[in-house]
Amino acid sequence: MTITTLRRQLLAWETSPAAILTKLAGEIAARDQGRTGAYLSHHLDTALAEAANTDLSLPLGGIPIAIKDNINVLGQPCTCGSKFLENFISPYDATVIRKLRAAGAIPFGRMNQDEFAMGSSTENSALGITRNPHDPTRIPGGSSGGSAAAVADHTAIAALGSDTGGSIRQPASHCGVVGLKPSYGRVSRYGLVAFASSLDQIGPLTQSVEDAALILQAIAGPDPLDSTSLDAPVPDYLRALNAGVKGLKLGIPKEYFGEGIHPGVRKNVEAAIQSLAAQGAEIVEISLPHTEHAVATYYVIAPAEASSNLSRYDGIRYGHRAANPTDILDLYKKSREQGFGPEVKRRIILGTYVLSSGYYDAYYSRAQKVRTLIRRDFENVFKSVDAILSPVAPTPARKLGAAGADPLQEYLSDIFTIAANLAGLPAISIPCGTTDFDGGKNLPLGLQIIAPHLAEAKLLQIAKAAER
Ligand code: GLN
Repeated sequence: MTITTLRRQLLAWETSPAAILTKLAGEIAARDQGRTGAYLSHHLDTALAEAANTDLSLPLGGIPIAIKDNINVLGQPCTCGSKFLENFISPYDATVIRKLRAAGAIPFGRMNQDEFAMGSSTENSALGITRNPHDPTRIPGGSSGGSAAAVADHTAIAALGSDTGGSIRQPASHCGVVGLKPSYGRVSRYGLVAFASSLDQIGPLTQSVEDAALILQAIAGPDPLDSTSLDAPVPDYLRALNAGVKGLKLGIPKEYFGEGIHPGVRKNVEAAIQSLAAQGAEIVEISLPHTEHAVATYYVIAPAEASSNLSRYDGIRYGHRAANPTDILDLYKKSREQGFGPEVKRRIILGTYVLSSGYYDAYYSRAQKVRTLIRRDFENVFKSVDAILSPVAPTPARKLGAAGADPLQEYLSDIFTIAANLAGLPAISIPCGTTDFDGGKNLPLGLQIIAPHLAEAKLLQIAKAAER
């Protein structure tokens, strides 16, 4: 059930927050544990205690929300899918959690993810695998794979994820749910474990566009604890939700429909574009010429920031500490060697390399310049269109374990989602039918809509029309 439906039932006294939580816990035991594997843990007792004090008159009153395991909830684990933080317990609430609670929601469940959010399959989690509920032989996408899979599997009503290069939108696409990455600065990152601080944003994964709007409404806004959060007023995201697309100009970037897109993805996305045209939108071809450099740019900037952010895991302040070190340097080395998985190590090595003296100008500084060009492409295009439409990912979900030995192939699958992060723009993935792919039948895929900075209301309005 959607948040909207459950809210109606709660207000009519047809159900209670405790009954919803107990039902979810039953579904998790029956269908998630040993099967989908979206949950790393959940805490029914604490949630029930919170439920007893919920104010149902609040906008999310009595609604449980599943939380990606890199967002801190006081007293609960926050593993980031890593052995390093396997036994870490959060000493505080992230701002988004404080805001969800203030809106009456109950954080419930810690959702699996790629280790430190590095990946697009959730296979990089050091703590177990998550399967796609539509086909258990396939990945749910990632890195917010647990959040997407649980919403798709109806073991969660809605979830929070984080998106650095596509980690909300791509798993939403693979699992057939709605996933929204807000503008950079729209939602506080305080209490989100940092991966790449100039790209990370928290956002909702939901069953409907309206539910995404409800959650964004609750978590958006300035926060003195995050200096990158924007001091901009938060509009009413529900007000214009049903305003339709009549008279809006929607851009189709020619660079996003080139080679490498699965024909079923292309067909469905084109059908969605036609449907928006039939609802009165004007469709125009546009060009984002620097998009072809987005993946390369991201895989310099994101690892650079990650190598710096992850230096805090030294075996002393947080998490894993190696036994029997010979000296302090040995303690750092052994703790990091034992605590981090292979993808995290690869990113730290890449990031340290591109920041090192002699290579800084050739890689990091140049990537920052290309990032500016990518951002300008969007600024130019948004002078003439209201939003941009594209696929979310080139293909539906691949098979588990099929990544192969070449990490570059996996990085290239982020091609359509990364540019929005580099430019700081809001973007959403909404279900866009199903297609057969690589032996799988009826696999979901997503339509991506990208809007100008802080234009989430417009984004949601177009998404709602497409959903309809
Ligand atoms: N797949 C991308 C990466 O591995 C994006 C991950 C994310 O958005 N957190 O970095």
